[in-house]
Order: sequence, then C-alpha cells, then structure tokens
Amino acid sequence: MEILHVAAECYPVAKAGGLGDVVGALPKYQAELGHVAKVVMPMYRTKFLYDNQWELVHEGGQHIGSHYFHYSIIKEKTNKLGFDLYLVDINGLLDREKIYGYDDDTERFLSFQVAVCDWLNKWSHKPDVIHCHDHHTGLIPFMVKYALEFRDKLADIPTVFTVHNAQYQGWIGWDKYYLLPSFDSWKWGMLDWDKTINPLASAVKCAWKVTTVSHSYLDELKGAANGLENLFGYEQGKSLGILNGIDTQVWDPITDSLIAKNYDKELVEKGKRKNKKELAGQFGLDPDKPLISFIGRLVGEKAADLLPEAISQSIYQHSGHANFLVLGSGDPNLEDQLDHMNHQFKGYFNSYIGYSESLSHLMYAGSDFLLMPSRVEPCGLNQMYALRYGTVPMVRNIGGLRDTVTDMGDPEGFGIRFDQASVGDITYSVGRAIDLYNNKPDLYTWMRSHMMTIDHSWDSSAQQYIDLYQSLK
Ligand code: ADP
Repeated sequence: MEILHVAAECYPVAKAGGLGDVVGALPKYQAELGHVAKVVMPMYRTKFLYDNQWELVHEGGQHIGSHYFHYSIIKEKTNKLGFDLYLVDINGLLDREKIYGYDDDTERFLSFQVAVCDWLNKWSHKPDVIHCHDHHTGLIPFMVKYALEFRDKLADIPTVFTVHNAQYQGWIGWDKYYLLPSFDSWKWGMLDWDKTINPLASAVKCAWKVTTVSHSYLDELKGAANGLENLFGYEQGKSLGILNGIDTQVWDPITDSLIAKNYDKELVEKGKRKNKKELAGQFGLDPDKPLISFIGRLVGEKAADLLPEAISQSIYQHSGHANFLVLGSGDPNLEDQLDHMNHQFKGYFNSYIGYSESLSHLMYAGSDFLLMPSRVEPCGLNQMYALRYGTVPMVRNIGGLRDTVTDMGDPEGFGIRFDQASVGDITYSVGRAIDLYNNKPDLYTWMRSHMMTIDHSWDSSAQQYIDLYQSLK
C-alpha cells in the first residue's frame, strides 16, 4: 500500500512530544512491512533541515482568504529515516524555529493543509490512504471531501485520523471561515462544533476511520474529551484504539549513544548504577538512594502542578530516603517553583527546565523509577521507554498507562499504579518505591528483568494500521 502521513511533528526532524515520536517511527515500520510510507510535514528551521540534503519536487501557489502564498515541497534525498520525507516550505509562515506557539498558528497550519491538498491534487497516481495526525491536519478529511477545488480528484481517497491528544482541538472562530478553500456550503456542519470551526471535531466527523492511541483512551473520551464527549459517542462505530509502539532502534539501552553505559537485561544492575552515578554527579544527588524522575511537559494534563507539593511531602514524610529529578518545560510559574526547590532541597531534588533529548535518554537509563501522575494520558510513551530501560514506572491508572503497566501487588505485576492524580497518592507510591528498592531485592530484580523483555515495538501496531487501511479499499 502507499500511505501518506500528514503531521506537524516527526522525530528527528521536529518533535515537541509523543506525536513526533510516533510519526517518526510508524512509517518506518510500515516501510519495513513492505509498504510505501511517506510523511509530509511543515518545513521549520530545525537542525535536521540544515544537516541534510534536499531536492525540490514540487512548487505551487494557493490562497488562504485573499492572501496568496507560494509553496515548495522538498524531499530528503537519501531516505535516511527509512521512509520518504517531504517538507512543505511556505515562506514567512512555516519556516520558523518553533513548531507551535505563534499568534498566527491558525494561518500557518491552514496554509500547510491547503498546500498538501493542492500538491496531492497534482499527483497522477494517488496514495491508497491519507493518514492525518491531530488537529493541525484535521481539516484535510473535510477539504478532500468538500472543497470545490479538491473533491473531484481526492474525495475517493480513504482518510484515517489519529487522535493523539483531544485536549487541543485547533479552534477557529467562524469569523475566519473565509480562510478555508471554497467548499460546499451545505456541509458547514461538518466543520462546526459548538458554534466554532473545530478541526479535531471535523476530522472525527469526516475521516473514514478514527483511531486513538490506546484502547482505554477511546473509552475515556466518551466521558471526558474537552467538550467532544458526545461526538466520540456518535462516531464510535468507525473508531478504534491502536496502542502506540516505541522505536526500539532509537530507544535501546544496548546501543543508545546518549547514555553513560550501555547495558542489557543481564547487566541491568551494573549499567543502571553507572548511569545513575553520572546523573547524580551532574545534579548533586546521592547515587545510593532510589532516584525517582519525571520527564514531560509541565502542564495540568501531566499533573505537573502537583510535583512541588508531592515531592516536598515525600521528602519530609519519607525522611529524605529518595531523590527526585525533573526534566520539563511548560507553565512558567511551575518552572519557577521547581527552580526554587533546587536550592530548598539541595541534595534531594533537582530539575532541568527546558527540552533535552540527550538528558531524557540518560534519565530513562539512570533513574530507578519514573513518575507519571497524569490527569489525561492518551497513550504515553515515557512509561514504555522506562520499561525498556529497566526503570519502574509509577503511573496513574488511566489511558495508555492503564493499558501498559500492571501493579507489583498483582501476580506478575511490574510497576506501581495509583488511582488519583493527588499529592496523597503520589506520596504513598513513593513510599512503596522506597520499600521495594530497600527491602524487596528479589522482587525488584525480577521486575526489572521482566519489564525489559516486554515487546512494545511497533511491529504489531504497524500491522494493525495496515489492516485498517486495507479494510477501506
Ligand atoms: P506528550 O506527547 O503528551 O507530551 P508522550 O508521553 O506521548 O507525551 O511523549 C512525550 C515524549 O516527549 C517522550 O519522548 C519524552 O521523552 C519527550 N519529552 C517530553 N518533555 C521532554 C523534555 N523536556 N526534554 C526531552 N524530552 C522530553
């Protein structure tokens, strides 16, 4: 099959979170299964752009409203990612350093989507499926079906839309509807949710199939979807959950070049100790105490706001028997609080505020426990990386965390689970972690070696997507 993935992120070209990891890995595994997988994304000014060779494959011009823009499609020359990578260059709109966070993000991602449809409209041979990811590409299923300029040639290409995160929906006021390409006006309802143009809702309505990145998340969306609960209920017939995998070539403690010491299941204890020593040295922590880390966006979804109180309480209640390390960025108040705690709890707690791919690898390798108290977790990749690196996940019982982590109190359980995103539940779980680390060496050793053998690679999920595409033929 020929699959065209459309997304705002793709690792290692540009990544802000799990979306980037997925779009960087899924096509590679689909190509390994013998399919032609292509990714098209915006051309940002990232290191990857400057470090690689590109060829121009198409140029065109389009409008958003009365604004004319010229676009170019460039392709990475060597196929080094294992799939065909295309970037859409729109001068002045997409070619910026950050992926998101600009006042004109609406115009940026709208023009990206229009350019992709315009380019596709010129293909003599069409792909078998267009697979769109998250709201930045959510208007494509509508445009190919109902935009006057595109529907003749594109309406019969099946579209699949994957919801990686339903919290962000890309809302556009109806006062900006003129930015969209002319469409069959009877179909305005396919864009609307609650009197707003809602790209995520539109994709759920218009795509041929909708997937979520875990089974539990699909169920949970019917009860909590930032206003779209009923929509997910109506559309459940065409929706299914497919659990994300991880790229086991990028995330492998045996070969990872970003960690201090490589290790496998047999050498896990020694290997982790060496990596922890490196981390402890960098952050002024005690390598003999259990190290509990948090990696992620400092936002309410991840319950990052609970970290200051939960970590201080844990340090007091458990008499400093554990150390804590946080890597993340997000809410500026929270960043300040964590920064302040670096001094207050020197020797027990430290944080790195910012984004660091290499530090994240070292933390998965050198931490003993990875804390994820998320309020919402569509899939979560961190816990799967933790498992692969022999780091015990401490997770709230929700979404993809529920689907991938079992509690050590259950038969064959290999993680620590708790029910509430609360200071009390986190502090209690920290106590369980300290007890496991200090008093249950046999269980701890068994858990580590067991978790490292769990297969979370993309092999089976990549095939599930192929089966889904094939059902649309
Ligand atoms: P989400 O996409 O909701 O942020 P996921 O668990 O799906 O959460 O994916 C998070 C990805 O982003 C993981 O690869 C994680 O290691 C990475 N990540 C998050 N924050 C940072 C950071 N500050 N520095 C480095 N990597 C980060």
